Amino acid sequence: MDGLSNIGTIKEILTRHGFKFSKSMGQNFLINPSVCPKMASMCGAKEGVGVLEIGPGIGVLTNELCKNADRVVSIELDKRLIPVLAETMAEHKNFKLINCDVMEADLKGIIQQEFKGLDVVVCANLPYYITSPIIMRLLEEKLPIKSITVMVQKEAADRLTAEVGSRNSSAVTVAVAYYSKPQLLFNVSRGSFMPSPNVDSAVIKLDISQTPNAIVKKESDFRRVVKAGFSQRRKTLSNSLSSGLGIPKDRANMLIERANLPTNIRAEKLSLEDFGRLSDCLTEYENEEI
Ligand code: SAM
Repeated sequence: MDGLSNIGTIKEILTRHGFKFSKSMGQNFLINPSVCPKMASMCGAKEGVGVLEIGPGIGVLTNELCKNADRVVSIELDKRLIPVLAETMAEHKNFKLINCDVMEADLKGIIQQEFKGLDVVVCANLPYYITSPIIMRLLEEKLPIKSITVMVQKEAADRLTAEVGSRNSSAVTVAVAYYSKPQLLFNVSRGSFMPSPNVDSAVIKLDISQTPNAIVKKESDFRRVVKAGFSQRRKTLSNSLSSGLGIPKDRANMLIERANLPTNIRAEKLSLEDFGRLSDCLTEYENEEI
């Protein structure tokens, strides 16, 4: 169904279904008609491609994805949207709705079952209360996907696409840079949504790297040092590692020195390679201890 980003159409559909927006489910629906066609095209939805969408809402982006891609599978938590989507997506035979929490869904199973023979991309206007957990899950599970194109809060977009080693860098920046090549596609003003949120948004694209962008001995240790390193933002890496890894400070210093880094450095100054070396030092050190 076209015209789904029109306020009048949205209000009519939602009133008829007795639907009220849920703040706790991050429901801000797009009402700017230029955004979804742009997202659908830039995410790579086309012939031979299957799209996994998270949070279709009333289907404004879904509709555009279905026009471009071979198949679209959307995961939506709110069961009140099932009858709404049955109406708005009725004409699209290449659409399937899965009513569940994306954090509990068997994403690998869904991709294997639903997108046989297709390249798979993720495209979504994400519920902002769980942006990072969703992105981390999509990356860490090493799903067979080519890219992730998502609308997130502007501030989150800046963090997710920041240079590792820059002031805006955080644990999620490092994780994103480890698994993908991120880019900011375009900004979207707060007035493009109903209800309008208090912040602006941006669309980012993460092109998944075939192999991670740093070589480490043990990936779980890499995740541990990154998480621990940023666990206390204002403190030095030494203090953060000590408390985050639960080790005495002299051991944290020893690991940092082994990685050829100064002990008074802060996590946001480290490059991806620095984190990789630190991770390998932790792996070696723990193997020595056994
Ligand atoms: N795609 C629609 C649009 O652009 O207008 C709606 C986007 S709205 C920001 C986020 C959507 O995610 C809502 O439909 C909400 O119900 C859904 N959602 C929230 N939490 C979810 C979860 N844990 N799993 C799946 N969907 C979720």
